Amino acid sequence: MSDQLQKFMFGAAPVRGEIVSLRNTWQQVLARRDYPTPVRVVLGEMMAACALLSANLKFDGTLIMQIYGDGPVKMLVVQCHSDLSLRATAKFSGEVASTITDDMSMVELINASGHGRCVITLDPRDKKPGQQPYQGIVPLSGEDGPLTTMSQVIEHYMHHSEQLDTRMWLAANSERAVGMLLQKLPGDGGIVPHPGELDADTWERVCTLGSTLSQKELLTEEPATLFRRLFWQENVHHFEPANTRFECTCSREKVGGMLKMLGREEVDSVIEERGHVEIHCDFCNQRYEFDPVDVAQLFVAGALSGGVAPAAEQRH
Ligand SMILES: [Zn+2]
Repeated sequence: MSDQLQKFMFGAAPVRGEIVSLRNTWQQVLARRDYPTPVRVVLGEMMAACALLSANLKFDGTLIMQIYGDGPVKMLVVQCHSDLSLRATAKFSGEVASTITDDMSMVELINASGHGRCVITLDPRDKKPGQQPYQGIVPLSGEDGPLTTMSQVIEHYMHHSEQLDTRMWLAANSERAVGMLLQKLPGDGGIVPHPGELDADTWERVCTLGSTLSQKELLTEEPATLFRRLFWQENVHHFEPANTRFECTCSREKVGGMLKMLGREEVDSVIEERGHVEIHCDFCNQRYEFDPVDVAQLFVAGALSGGVAPAAEQRH
């Protein structure tokens, strides 16, 4: 039952929903890096939210959710591919241990001076030349001041950036990251209920039902149990559940590409100082080492392929 995402659609109104429960996927993130407790909660909730938003889109590519924080957490990043493979990481400003305490709120972590923001990017798999990824940005504060939970941030984003009424319930601890989404589709949402079946109150009613969910219930019950408990009286169509998994897309080749972008001079200065270049992937903690020979090959190969690339392209 773990690591599943279940979509559903209410029968008598243009309202759809999803429930996701991440167990192994989330454990893979936590096994690779140690995060302070309050960061773990925010990052886990983001991961559940990212899976929900990604599965909600008809889109082939990667959904990237970033929080730029102005507190002790500088950045939180979660990426989800269309196949529901996910990865996540956090970056801190300064020494983590001394600044982040267990009782810190989300606002203290990422929006301490009110300058935090949330950026969501849709990066299509097959980009046309010159095509920019779609990107939406919202501040981490609303009309009534700072947003205090990750679900409020996502609801704020969906309202301002997508003009869609969306409600989200999220929870995370050291074992699971869980979330539920409800969304009101514009117009009739493409559904055609039988005459007399359209129920205008569905949206309000299912949101009220959703609001009875406690964090404890989210974290202890299986999604199917939660669903039955909330919506047993509703006419609902279930879709085939999908599985999520952890996957990092880093590779030696990509790290090499990054070193090439830094430039020979910069890389050589590191070699001179330390004898080799060592890079750790922020997402999976994989270590990549380049010794002087590797670096020399990297830049020679770069120069050669750079020289032949235009001719190769012309042949196609
Ligand atoms: Zn990696």
